[in-house]
Amino acid sequence: MFNFTLQKTSGKARAGIMKTEHGEILTPVFMPVGTLGTVKAMSPKELEEVQAQIILGNTYHLYIRPGHTLIQKAGGLHQFISWNHPILTDSGGFQVMSLAALRKISKEGVKFQSHIDGSPHIFTPEKVIEIQEALGADIIMSFDECPPYPSTRKYVEKSLATTLDWAERGKKAFTNYKHQALFGIVQGGIYEDLREKSALELMEMDFDGYGIGGLAVGEEKEDLLRITSFLNDILPIDKPRYLMGVGTPSDLLNNIDRGIDMFDCVMPTRNARKGSIFTRYGKMIIKAARYKDDFSPIDPLCGCYTCTHFSRAYIRHLITMNEILGMRLTTIHSLWFYQELMQMARKAIWENKWNEFLAEMLPTLDRIVQ
Ligand SMILES: [Zn+2]
Repeated sequence: MFNFTLQKTSGKARAGIMKTEHGEILTPVFMPVGTLGTVKAMSPKELEEVQAQIILGNTYHLYIRPGHTLIQKAGGLHQFISWNHPILTDSGGFQVMSLAALRKISKEGVKFQSHIDGSPHIFTPEKVIEIQEALGADIIMSFDECPPYPSTRKYVEKSLATTLDWAERGKKAFTNYKHQALFGIVQGGIYEDLREKSALELMEMDFDGYGIGGLAVGEEKEDLLRITSFLNDILPIDKPRYLMGVGTPSDLLNNIDRGIDMFDCVMPTRNARKGSIFTRYGKMIIKAARYKDDFSPIDPLCGCYTCTHFSRAYIRHLITMNEILGMRLTTIHSLWFYQELMQMARKAIWENKWNEFLAEMLPTLDRIVQ
């Protein structure tokens, strides 16, 4: 069922289309994060309105609460959360890594204690596939060990061997391939030769797509860009590439420029709830005193519900008062902006004007709006 077609390129930037049982996804694509089966503060209808094509769910969190068997009983994640468009579930590797003192890694898998009640659990590559098959997302990820940063080369080497073994075991355990796509995850830290080994061995196993994991975990931005540049020349051109957990608007553009097709990150939603809003002019800190009596919209050129109905002054008031509506309105704008940025990127690639687009957009995105 799943397939990916690369439609156009401009420089190294790619525009493509992915087909899943729950609809098509045009790339490059940004996937809003719905950790617990909800993109915080957004209803599915609002996600459609901000033009989200696919959302992400977290295997670890959904396994802990409410549990994958309950979700399966409800008819799967799409049915349970009433989202009839594509979903991707992550492998849980990153969350398990974040448990630090609460987990123990072996060749078999990871033993860990729930961050909620301390109850003991084990994730093996087979178990992680079983959970994700029960959840029923359109795209699922193989279990990986995500080495923390910084890690010694020796540690990363050993961790990579485990991840490759887990990828093979997960692929063997995967039975629902008629309805779901399985992506492998390239690891290897900041070491090019390990990244190459990881990519080549995964390509040998022939996954439906390739995640690039273990980046955006604290390394320098130059290292991240060096690794995605490097992998761009190795990964197959006819499969989607997904840079996991990235990033700011400029990170997205800089990595589209290095051949990446898919992104996810909590940043636009999490920051929005705190009143830090992404716009084409840079980041707007809406609590700043100068917005107190500013009755213009966040972005006069933006077509989102927030910008077409509400003023900076009102949104500042809501956020300052910790009102739920404030968080909803800022989230609507930031997600709309991320989706629009991806659509603009796609258009620029389509018209073979990628470099001009990149040069025009990059200078303002990282600024704080004054
Ligand atoms: Zn807006």
